[in-house]
Amino acid sequence: MEHVMELPQKVIIGDGSFNRNNISQIFKSKHKGLIVTGPHIVKIFNDKIQSALSDFSYDTIIVSEPTYAEAERVLAAAGNSDYSFVIGIGGGKTLDIAKYVGFKLNRPMLSVPTNASNDGIASPFSSLRGGKYPYSIKVKPPLGVIADVSIIMNAPREQINSGLGDLIGKITSVRDWLLAHKEKGEYYGEYASKLALESAKHALASAEGIGKLKVASVRTLLEALISAGVAGGIAGSSRPLSGSEHLITHALDVLVPGQGMHGEKVALSTVFTSYFYKLKWERIKSSIKKSGLPVSYDELGIGRETVVKAIIMAPTLRPERYTILHKLQLSESKINEVLDYLKI
Ligand code: ZN
Repeated sequence: MEHVMELPQKVIIGDGSFNRNNISQIFKSKHKGLIVTGPHIVKIFNDKIQSALSDFSYDTIIVSEPTYAEAERVLAAAGNSDYSFVIGIGGGKTLDIAKYVGFKLNRPMLSVPTNASNDGIASPFSSLRGGKYPYSIKVKPPLGVIADVSIIMNAPREQINSGLGDLIGKITSVRDWLLAHKEKGEYYGEYASKLALESAKHALASAEGIGKLKVASVRTLLEALISAGVAGGIAGSSRPLSGSEHLITHALDVLVPGQGMHGEKVALSTVFTSYFYKLKWERIKSSIKKSGLPVSYDELGIGRETVVKAIIMAPTLRPERYTILHKLQLSESKINEVLDYLKI
């Protein structure tokens, strides 16, 4: 089977790195670009955007919902204007739309995250709602990433914590991948798997600093999110990034859309799935607490009945993506027993 790796060409992380110079390093031609951004971002960072893009002509499209309908609206608006590149400036949802639009227009995309809420910053995946499947699809990775720490430090604390939560998920996603390799003969890339897990470990080591919003720790988190995305590019699939813990999260997205942030749900679901791999779930739970992430589904406003339903639904969302949940086919009573035991 052919295995294709697609990776970003240039990743720039630093204080004040969203500037004219760095953008010119990524887009050499001065043709017209399309900026995809969110309503709040354009208000807060208007001056920054104008000064960083002063060498280029561009149009701006504001997006709100991370849906296919919204992405198609952008594509229709882009119409016949021959943009030579797309820049996404915003949170994970905005970047997902910008990646999708760049992919469909067959134009290079620059990712400028304004928060650190998930691992989509540098990954070749786009997660949009309202499509056939409630999980991410493969597009192309950004050509470049400019992660400006001075911008990201302005993001709300929950969004930064959510990024840590998403990385915690790699503890079980890489196990699910190995399980699928051993039991179903699926392709497994040891390097990509280790890189994803290493990203999680690095971020976890900084959990307390991330909770206290220390600049150095947030920077570590950003680097970890970017390398996790790159691990997805190396694997050529979201396997190293998304396993049973993400399936539970996607099921919760279906049952109670918008309740809790992505990384908050992933982190709690990792405590659950790590139990079945006999991992040190207590340690995972204490890191969650240290960083200030919610320590129970109840804290997210998601009741027990919904959680149980989601865990039963999870493996049915992607029958082809074998995980520990597909293997164990947990009963309602077993799920309740474990949730009680883990106190989540
Ligand atoms: Zn995720």
